[in-house]
Amino acid sequence: MRSSAALQLLADRLTMNKDLYDCIVVGAGPAGLSAALFLARYRRRVLTFHHNSPRNEYAHGVHGFLGHHGISPAELLARGRDEVTTHGGLIVESCVTGIERLTNDHFRVSTGDGDQDDRTFDARRILLATGLRDLTPDCPGFRDFYGVSVHHCPDCDGYECIDKRIAVLGTGTKTVGFALKLLTWTKKITLITEDPAGLSNDDRAKLDSFDIPVLDQNIKALEGDLESKQLQRIVFTDGDALACDALFFNLGTEPASNLHEVLGCKLDEECGLLWVDKTHQTSIEGVYAAGDITPNSQLAVVAAAEGAMAAIHINDSLIPSELKPK
Ligand SMILES: Cc1cc2nc3c(=O)[nH]c(=O)nc-3n(C[C@H](O)[C@H](O)[C@H](O)COP(=O)(O)OP(=O)(O)OC[C@H]3O[C@@H](n4cnc5c(N)ncnc54)[C@H](O)[C@@H]3O)c2cc1C
Repeated sequence: MRSSAALQLLADRLTMNKDLYDCIVVGAGPAGLSAALFLARYRRRVLTFHHNSPRNEYAHGVHGFLGHHGISPAELLARGRDEVTTHGGLIVESCVTGIERLTNDHFRVSTGDGDQDDRTFDARRILLATGLRDLTPDCPGFRDFYGVSVHHCPDCDGYECIDKRIAVLGTGTKTVGFALKLLTWTKKITLITEDPAGLSNDDRAKLDSFDIPVLDQNIKALEGDLESKQLQRIVFTDGDALACDALFFNLGTEPASNLHEVLGCKLDEECGLLWVDKTHQTSIEGVYAAGDITPNSQLAVVAAAEGAMAAIHINDSLIPSELKPK
């Protein structure tokens, strides 16, 4: 965390100037940094907050990001932060704890949790790029292999599992589709469900028709080679074990922050994520959103593209009417 003295200095510098930022971006993952970079290049006063918890912090590499395939998440974000600041954008490591809408064109952002780091910052636009958190298996060994041989995203890591023995952990009909998607890369799939009632007879028949066995078992631990982070077996509470090369889990996600609720932003009825229009504006005028928190594929490259699109529209919304074509 940035020290309170440094934060104080920065806050003093900003408030002494009575700065009204053009945009405050909450979140410095691919979405927030990409937006901040474009806004800075539009010469907008842009201030970005993050608390250093990107969704993919456990991944060993970002797959499928054109031109950066395999780059470590930390390296991608460090480069992004550098690009934003060299264009004049400010980035502060601090948790945003509140956002108040003073008018359609004026928002107040609070940081800190009631201690000496409490500050407020004002802006004309807000971009929420706060991302999602994955609900993860709660068993010994999970963290030892997560991001290398334990995954949640077939789009991101399926290719690395071609012809490997994959275990899938999940429940309900959505997990059937998840398991079937993995047939793109391997036929050696076993589905584990800790909630047998969540799978209907039709679900089980469908899986059976594709030779995907179902184990109604509770996981006790994940085991394998700790140095290479290679999962080798899943041990169950009854003592049985399943040898495998990778585990994909499908346990759901939740928003990483509740700031959209504080602002009263509408959710998408189908997926429950943050509703946005074609310009990436939420249901609250002046509040935009991009990245995993909005409905779309949850990929770093998509988040970055959405951040750029949001920035284009935020900039457009800030252009005075006399400078726009009639
Ligand atoms: C293990 C794993 C592996 C992955 N592998 C890949 C891959 O190979 N390829 C790929 O394309 N995608 C991959 N993804 C998905 C990818 O990480 C996400 O799609 C991407 O990170 C979304 O970017 P984002 O900017 O929307 O959110 P995030 O990257 O999650 O960033 C959210 C930001 O919001 C900040 N934040 C949240 N709340 C607050 C607050 N209250 N105050 C201040 N800051 C806040 C956080 O600090 C963070 O900076 C993977 C994900 C995981 C979990």
